[in-house]
Amino acid sequence: MAKHLVLVGGGHAHMVTLSKIHELVAAGHQVTVVQPSDHHYYSGMGPGMLGGTYTPDDIRFATRHVVEKQGGQFVRDKVTRIDPDARTVFTQSGQTLTYDVLSFNAGSYVPTTIVAVEDQDIFLVKPIERLLEAKQRFLEMVSQKKVDVGIVGGGPSAAEISGNLLQLVRENGGHVPSITIYSGRRLMARFPEPVRGRVERDLKRRGVRIVANDYVETIKSGHIHMRSGQTHVADFVFLALGVVPSPIFEASGLPTGPDGGLRVNRFLQSTTYPNLFGGGDCIYFEDRPLDKVGVYAVRENPVLYHNLKAALEGKELQPFDPGGDYLLIFNLGERTGVLHKRWLTFGGRPAFIAKDFIDRRFMKAFQSIE
Ligand SMILES: Cc1cc2nc3c(=O)[nH]c(=O)nc-3n(C[C@H](O)[C@H](O)[C@H](O)COP(=O)(O)OP(=O)(O)OC[C@H]3O[C@@H](n4cnc5c(N)ncnc54)[C@H](O)[C@@H]3O)c2cc1C
Repeated sequence: MAKHLVLVGGGHAHMVTLSKIHELVAAGHQVTVVQPSDHHYYSGMGPGMLGGTYTPDDIRFATRHVVEKQGGQFVRDKVTRIDPDARTVFTQSGQTLTYDVLSFNAGSYVPTTIVAVEDQDIFLVKPIERLLEAKQRFLEMVSQKKVDVGIVGGGPSAAEISGNLLQLVRENGGHVPSITIYSGRRLMARFPEPVRGRVERDLKRRGVRIVANDYVETIKSGHIHMRSGQTHVADFVFLALGVVPSPIFEASGLPTGPDGGLRVNRFLQSTTYPNLFGGGDCIYFEDRPLDKVGVYAVRENPVLYHNLKAALEGKELQPFDPGGDYLLIFNLGERTGVLHKRWLTFGGRPAFIAKDFIDRRFMKAFQSIE
């Protein structure tokens, strides 16, 4: 019997399902995708778009077009919550949809609790499409004066954003800004020392200041106030703090993990509602909590598609194996990077070339569906 599949978000874990909508439609099912933007942006290339290496077209996937051309329905809206017992989805604009099977790939967001509401010139590393606004505003500011940039966060996105802001000003002209990363305990603290040290040395050599062993408490009226009592000036702020899963699950009363992500079993299936699935940053994989990296979202694709189809057709589900080590490559701007896998670490231009090749190949594979 024909069923209705609803995809909440067309993120990295839904790429294969999005490319197979025609098969589901041919089998008689109805497929609806709800997403706040007509495009989905590939985050791995986001800092490169900020720095000017890539155009928005290089790094985005035309979700609406791909869905509609295969006979699916696209709803441009944001899901706020679901009622799992009534199998109903509620959206920000007040629409409701009912479903038989639903899959979440709504990603994560940067919490902004440390920011005073009236402050301007504060940008977030996500959603990736907003990096374009940051780029325009940054170029406008550096054309007028030497800007104090504060990047709050100690992970790879803080490092990537700082290096790509330097590229942006070097390639477009303007006053070279003073960039400070407020890294909390230590920049890239959770990474092996060869990677961590290399990233830190590279950024320092290029003039980036790193404030460690102190935490940002509030950002207000162009000032960053630290837990230690120190205050720093910042005309332009990037929040690159650790992301947290979409708030949909808590709002829906669904079982979540400690981080607020949808709690799923090894079939990427809700531990309580067998017709709910999910992938990417918004899930809590209870067998083995996963890092919030696109790599896992990409690996989940085939299993998620298989299981959604199986749930529609009453067939057997497949377990997801997260796999072992993954390749890390950071784009540090000015066409340099740092690459790490197991015992191998190297930096400079070769690392950037490797990342650029892998990222462009990934985009091409999915853009070809368009
Ligand atoms: C600057 C930066 C660089 C990164 N670089 C890398 C990298 O090089 N390699 C790597 O592996 N990881 C990288 N990451 C991590 C990576 O971004 C995430 O792990 C990845 O984006 C997770 O994919 P996702 O599909 O779960 O979420 P997302 O990419 O966030 O996609 C979620 C989708 O859901 C939609 N959506 C959001 N809310 C709703 C809603 N309420 N209703 C409906 N739709 C919604 C969004 O519009 C979006 O299209 C980076 C992260 C950042 C911030």
